[in-house]
Amino acid sequence: MEGIITAWGRILRGYRPALSIEITRECPLRCPGCYAYGDDHLGGDVTLRQVTDYKGQDLIDRVLAIVDEEKPLHVSIVGGEPLVRYRELQQILPAIAARGMYAQLVTSAVRPIPLEFASIPRLQTVVSIDGLQPEHDARRKPATYDRILKHIAGHQITVHCTVTRQQVQREGYLEEFLQFWSANRDTRQIWVSLYTPQVGEVADEILLPADRERVVAALMTLRHKYPKLKMPEGLIKQYAKPPQSPDECVFAQTTQCISADLERRITPCQFGGTPDCTQCGCIASAALGAVGAHRLPGGLRVGAIFEGSLKVGRAWRARRAPSGVEQPSPAA
Ligand code: SF4
Ligand code: SF4
Repeated sequence: MEGIITAWGRILRGYRPALSIEITRECPLRCPGCYAYGDDHLGGDVTLRQVTDYKGQDLIDRVLAIVDEEKPLHVSIVGGEPLVRYRELQQILPAIAARGMYAQLVTSAVRPIPLEFASIPRLQTVVSIDGLQPEHDARRKPATYDRILKHIAGHQITVHCTVTRQQVQREGYLEEFLQFWSANRDTRQIWVSLYTPQVGEVADEILLPADRERVVAALMTLRHKYPKLKMPEGLIKQYAKPPQSPDECVFAQTTQCISADLERRITPCQFGGTPDCTQCGCIASAALGAVGAHRLPGGLRVGAIFEGSLKVGRAWRARRAPSGVEQPSPAA
């Protein structure tokens, strides 16, 4: 509740409480269905691989300048593969922690995660592991299971699995995945997202409605059996009834996403392009959707308070802007 009130205060002053930065355009992987390298991720005129990005002190200074301007409570460092810039992160991540902010590093663990990251306060390291070894290795080579297991040693990671249609073909697959990663001593917790397509996308990864129902039912049961699966019931329920548009998505409304040139805003959410909200399986959207659906004593929905506060905050920040200075787009 304390976090909600702090975030609410930020929103009322016209800031988005969460910031997501693609700190590099580079990635040694070529995962099928990767949204970051989709043609329309940045709106269609340029792709992530084509934007100018930064390195060294220039990158450190520019990222921290954005953090100081946006004043988020939570910063996600994504890519590309963020660990391509691990030397810069050795300065950026402690600097974010020193500002009292929470941070999340989202990586494939294709290279070793510097051990000192394990002791940075409020930093969560999230490793994308999409299924059991045969399916994961086929999709995410060279970030194979063998490499991941070596590179996470000494950390307490969040395992993040994006469920694709390939993973729901066999009964018990998700439970085997949870058994394997729950038994790993370097796993602190496990999150499960569902593949989110773009509008009109045709891909083998897309879950059919019946697949989604089965995954939701399985997660509802498995969360009791595997304590490391940190997914409350209210969050899982959101997968059965995703937002119908970005306007209904608390996550999209409260998160500023910036690409590797450190200028372009990725809209309407981190997926960019035209994501099919009606098939959304993003855990961040579901988690905030669950918060938004919560009713306070008296019956008022938390989401309704956020929506009203966003309007107040936008108006407030626009009034504070010096005339003629355009503010970053507060909404997609
Ligand atoms: S590791 Fe991430 S950014 Fe790189 S190709 Fe795979 S999904 Fe895309
Ligand atoms: S995160 Fe929000 S805006 Fe993005 S696809 Fe999901 S519901 Fe839509």
